[in-house]
Amino acid sequence: MARRFEEFGFRPEVLRAVREAGYQVCTPVQEKTIDPVLQGNDLTGMAETGSGKTAAFLLPILEKMRPGGDDPQALVVAPTRELAVQVAAEARKLGKYCGVRIAAVYGGTGLGSQKNELLAGVDLVVGTPGRLIDFIRQTYLRLSRIRFLVLDEADRMLDMGFIKDIEFIMSKAPLSRQTLLFSATLPPEILRLAQNFMYHPVGVEVERPSLTARNIEQWAEPVRSDAAKARRLVELLTAEKPEQVLVFVATRERTALVADALHRAGYRASSISSLLSQPNRERVLDDFRKGRVPVLVATDVAGRGLDIVTVSHVINYDVPSVPDDYVHRVGRTARAGRRGRAITLVAPAERAALREIERRIGISLIVGTGDGTTAGDKPEGPAEKSRRRPGGRRRGGRPGPGGVNRSRKPSRKKRRGQN
Ligand code: ADP
Ligand code: MG
Repeated sequence: MARRFEEFGFRPEVLRAVREAGYQVCTPVQEKTIDPVLQGNDLTGMAETGSGKTAAFLLPILEKMRPGGDDPQALVVAPTRELAVQVAAEARKLGKYCGVRIAAVYGGTGLGSQKNELLAGVDLVVGTPGRLIDFIRQTYLRLSRIRFLVLDEADRMLDMGFIKDIEFIMSKAPLSRQTLLFSATLPPEILRLAQNFMYHPVGVEVERPSLTARNIEQWAEPVRSDAAKARRLVELLTAEKPEQVLVFVATRERTALVADALHRAGYRASSISSLLSQPNRERVLDDFRKGRVPVLVATDVAGRGLDIVTVSHVINYDVPSVPDDYVHRVGRTARAGRRGRAITLVAPAERAALREIERRIGISLIVGTGDGTTAGDKPEGPAEKSRRRPGGRRRGGRPGPGGVNRSRKPSRKKRRGQN
């Protein structure tokens, strides 16, 4: 039986917000990390995406924090603007009755209003490395009272080249602080960071059958060309009828290209990438979050940490060149115990990248021979044969084009929980 939040001895202000958030019992990572954090330990928490890491660090911090004073007591460093906004929103939700003042600081928008928030006095700051450093340098942000420092999505911050920035930020906070590091993956640089900047951290790792969440059905389909990708994407949307879908592409230029192809096919789709100004990015994301737009075409900017529970499908229009990016993209679906599907379209030139991903996650993804790729061009692996099935029974009796590839999709049962 999972633990209930009442068992941690949280004060009523915290418990009330937890109840209002609708959280009944702990997720596994919360179950393992909340006590050690309450006891004052440094901690590294590794758990798959969508497993509730945000509340795992926010709740004990909110429990221990007493708002007041000009300078913040807690700092959460997040890799992207979107993630910073999201963590701040969760903090506002869970900190509703604690009287904490929360500021989110991130680049791409003017300094003015964020500066004013800091000047007004703040207890918890969530920010991206670059903007945090700007404010630290300009002395609008002083870290001398920091008691809690959190690195969220630490692996992503390393990927984005933030290591020096993070080291700078950490060096500005008192040594007496408590440092918490959360991540979905555990590359050696993270261990090093933990060694250098943390004091005997408690290591928590939540076991999982594979690197990507269990309740995601995932497979990859070979396609012959870029034009074939666009066709197949439209077929998939028609057949799968996703509640909401994130379509990932390799470059920001391709977001517009794919969104245009979808418009021509009659789909409502928006796109998001670093080509958009920050206000536009927020507007697009908000429209998607509220369900006003069913399809969002994105670069990896939207690939990490974003938590939109209604995302039923992730489609990798392009195979990510870094295997961890696959893990993060796919983690955008099957949030909060829901199910999701992740489908990857693979052009011939992308087969090698796909094999890297398959090795990384320990699952063979390729199904069918698609529209023309040779049958011999398939990854090895014992699971391969048994995972294809003849015939194309359609789920839920929904009408669909019943495309060639679709009928080759492996059965739901076989695809799930493969190791
Ligand atoms: P992660 O950071 O591990 O990727 P998040 O912290 O974004 O995951 O949480 C994923 C989703 O699960 C969010 O919608 C969050 O509100 C929800 N959630 C977190 N903890 C619980 C819980 N104990 N019970 C139910 N839902 C939860
Ligand atoms: Mg997270």
